[in-house]
Amino acid sequence: MADFPLSLLSFFAMSYTETVPKIIDESRQGEAFYSPHIQLDKPIDIKRFYIESYGCQMNFSDSEIVASILSGCGYTPTREVEEADLILLNTCSIREKAEETVRKRLRTIDKIKLARPGSMVGILGCMAERLKKSLLEEEKLVDLVVGPDAYRDLPNLLQRVEDGDKGINVYLSKEETYADISPVRLESNGVTAFISIMRGCDNMCSFCVVPFTRGRERSRDPFTIVSEAEHLFEKGYREVTLLGQNVDSYKWQHPETKENYTFARLLELVAHVHPKLRIRFSTSHPKDMTDDVLEMMARYDNICKYIHLPVQSGSSRILSLMNRTYDRDWYINRVESIRRIVPDCTISSDIIAGFCTETKEDHQDTLSMMAWADYCMSYMFMYSERPGTLAARKYKDDVEEEVKKSRLSEIIALQNSISRNHNLRDEGKVFSVLIEGDSRKSDTEFKGRNTQNKVVVFGKQPGYKPGDYVNVLIESSTSATLIGRIV
Ligand code: SAM
Ligand code: SF4
Repeated sequence: MADFPLSLLSFFAMSYTETVPKIIDESRQGEAFYSPHIQLDKPIDIKRFYIESYGCQMNFSDSEIVASILSGCGYTPTREVEEADLILLNTCSIREKAEETVRKRLRTIDKIKLARPGSMVGILGCMAERLKKSLLEEEKLVDLVVGPDAYRDLPNLLQRVEDGDKGINVYLSKEETYADISPVRLESNGVTAFISIMRGCDNMCSFCVVPFTRGRERSRDPFTIVSEAEHLFEKGYREVTLLGQNVDSYKWQHPETKENYTFARLLELVAHVHPKLRIRFSTSHPKDMTDDVLEMMARYDNICKYIHLPVQSGSSRILSLMNRTYDRDWYINRVESIRRIVPDCTISSDIIAGFCTETKEDHQDTLSMMAWADYCMSYMFMYSERPGTLAARKYKDDVEEEVKKSRLSEIIALQNSISRNHNLRDEGKVFSVLIEGDSRKSDTEFKGRNTQNKVVVFGKQPGYKPGDYVNVLIESSTSATLIGRIV
């Protein structure tokens, strides 16, 4: 699943209040979790926690699990970092820049902690897992370091900190899926939600730190996934996104009957929750995406016709160095299957510019693949060497920074023009759109998405509310948005 591209990270802006700078967040990076709906087990002696999330959707989803665990031990959330007894950053290590962002944020948090003696600061997620104890040595004001599989231990670790010690748990589990924890939903639009269906990753893409920070792949009990989806539907949610690093390799065996559950089977179970509950999923790995998943998508109207299928590079030579275990022809074959079995499906991608030894010809292969695959959207990154990965150990990061930058710019420019044409082709069509809430620019307009995951903006009409499906005629578009009216 993609986290946010470098180009978006650069939208970060700091606005300075009298005391504390806050992040103004265009892309959800560093978003503070808040939910007014938490019921405390212990209403007396209220302590407040503040949590910011960085990186991929999995981290945002994990913050909801953390919120649930904290609400069980006397904590209530706050939006105000300055009034928090416990400040948590749920961090990302995927690129160097992601870690730098967190380090910068810690300089501000140091000041807050000094101004509020007794408050605690914790680092959660991938940076905690990657840097372990050294994080406590480098960041003197950090009290807690907790890896992605150790959130159940938070109450104990907090007690340890309250007793004057430091709290660290970076144990990676082979079983933990938090299946029994009901996540406290981020104060969202009340219409769309994420459900983690698996954790970790068993692939060893040479550029990627995820297998080291999130551990071995394990799939969650499908019946807990279905009941979470049912519960969300009852509460008014109308779309769930099933999350995993490689959803196509989902596999679960019933402990008693020994029946096997594949991703295609899980999709079908969730599709049966209700015809009005839309299902999305992310991320699909080209090596594992099978036709039975595509056939399931074609069979159920409520499984959205959109696949995030990261190519990373269009060059077979680079794909082999990346250890992606597919080549250009294999990828093309997968896209052809999508077009054959789910003809109205849109496809998006992740692309890395300037991986080790990438030549002009390799880069041209990426551009030609983008044009051929006709991606509706892509997350685009410059290669960032990560310590400990296969690529860091085996290959030289030998593409000059300037060359990486210029290749990334070309990739972004090409994607913009492909997206523009994609959306122009949708003008004049009518789509069923799930209303998610007000558009960013105006409260006289709604924003929603069609099944192909395209953002649609349209004028409000009486009688419609978030969570409703409406038919919208597309009258104009930009490269990022379809604009229309209810018909
Ligand atoms: N599991 C997903 C897959 O295999 O497609 C990807 C998960 S990763 C969190 C999201 C994206 O970050 C990757 O698809 C890749 O494009 C990008 N990425 C990962 N490591 C990177 C690195 N070292 N430098 C630049 N981009 C990287
Ligand atoms: Fe990283 Fe590859 Fe696993 Fe995706 S599939 S999380 S890129 S190792």
